[in-house]
Amino acid sequence: MTDCLFCKIVSGDVPAKIIRESDRTVAFRDINPQAPTHVLVIPREHHPTVAGLAAADPDLLAEMLQEAGQVAVDEGVADTGYRVVFNTGAQAGQTVFHVHAHVLGGRGLNWPPG
Ligand code: 5GP
Repeated sequence: MTDCLFCKIVSGDVPAKIIRESDRTVAFRDINPQAPTHVLVIPREHHPTVAGLAAADPDLLAEMLQEAGQVAVDEGVADTGYRVVFNTGAQAGQTVFHVHAHVLGGRGLNWPPG
């Protein structure tokens, strides 16, 4: 999609600190990190929400989760604990409608989230 921020990160038109790439996914650091590790994992293909992606291409969603797990290992937070979050819909805080998994770790994380 031409007006999608994360599609522009995939295409290289918007710069990002990319830390992992696969044929179908990209992982990059969040511009406004909420934890010492805050990485976004996205599919290269545009899907607005995780529910839509789960229906359209469950294998791609599984690959995103595998990549999120590898990010946690690479960032050194896999053993201490981390969170994978898909904000879905405006009321839940989704601001970019290109599905993304937040990988958050490196500090204690409260529950329930705000
Ligand atoms: P959401 O609120 O949709 O769940 O998450 C969107 C995330 O994208 C936010 O955490 C926000 O900080 C991040 N973000 C917004 N614009 C940019 C950008 O231009 N570059 C990067 N790397 N992250 C961004």
